[in-house]
Amino acid sequence: MTTVLERPIVFDAVLATVAAIDDLSPHLRRVTFVAPRIADAVTAGPDQRIKVLLAPPDGGALKLPQGPDWYTEWCAQPADERFIMRTYTIRALRPEVAEMDIEFVLHGVNGPASAWVSEAAVGDELGLIIPFAVDTTSTKGLLHSGVDYVPPATSVRRVLVADETALPALAGILEQLPADVHATVFVEVPDLRDIRALPTPGTADITWVTPAPDGPKSLLEALKAADLPYDVDYAWVAGESSMIKAVRRHLVNAVGMPKAAISFQGYWKRGEAQI
Ligand SMILES: Cc1cc2nc3c(=O)[nH]c(=O)nc-3n(C[C@H](O)[C@H](O)[C@H](O)COP(=O)(O)OP(=O)(O)OC[C@H]3O[C@@H](n4cnc5c(N)ncnc54)[C@H](O)[C@@H]3O)c2cc1C
Repeated sequence: MTTVLERPIVFDAVLATVAAIDDLSPHLRRVTFVAPRIADAVTAGPDQRIKVLLAPPDGGALKLPQGPDWYTEWCAQPADERFIMRTYTIRALRPEVAEMDIEFVLHGVNGPASAWVSEAAVGDELGLIIPFAVDTTSTKGLLHSGVDYVPPATSVRRVLVADETALPALAGILEQLPADVHATVFVEVPDLRDIRALPTPGTADITWVTPAPDGPKSLLEALKAADLPYDVDYAWVAGESSMIKAVRRHLVNAVGMPKAAISFQGYWKRGEAQI
């Protein structure tokens, strides 16, 4: 059964099997999933969001959602009986081998998704809600397709701000940056060893914010200290909720960017569980 949302994209649930696990760094674990239907999956952009589905808190089995009203039904169920749902990014899609990668932040065992990935092993199963068709001509636009990074076609100087949860999306965005586009990038990771190469066909100045004692203490501080290109025309900001709001305020009030030129997305909220 295919779930058609009121969006120019079709999502559906699949049961996927862990095919490989790679520790990219102390806090980022890449999990490769395989499922026959991934061969038909698509993405609307490099920050394509998806849902990860885990067994309910009461220990019941994971039942994949069915039918167009599954979300309403899910909301109506008691919290401990319904499957746990969290949001992640498709880091890489290889339909030719029916594989997909997600990069999970290991932030401890206080959240079910992070706890699951801490213990994950090849052969484990996980539910996913992923896209199967994108209508790029829809008048509703790509912003309704589970992507937030939608720069105007004319944009050539972009600011990209991400914490570790948005690093997978950032890596994909940089991999697809056109050769004539420059990105000024600020990225925060919990550990110096989480710094990694971020290849791009475009050009990028990358500032890493880490717990190093002599570096900037936050993404906002790093941004304030930077000389941005005078003609910055688009910004994408993703990560912890209070950070994205502070960064957007700075880009609007101090840098002078129009609000419409800034895409900002809360990926998690300190002290609160997300769905
Ligand atoms: C569009 C979108 C795309 C995303 N893509 C990714 C992705 O590709 N990879 C990824 O790892 N995450 C991604 N996230 C973030 C992820 O959904 C959250 O981190 C989520 O809270 C993880 O679920 P959980 O079950 O581990 O923790 P939850 O049950 O949601 O939260 C439990 C506790 O952990 C805290 N917490 C959550 N995340 C972190 C963190 N990173 N560091 C420290 N504490 C934390 C919460 O504040 C809370 O106190 C994305 C979010 C969105 C909205």
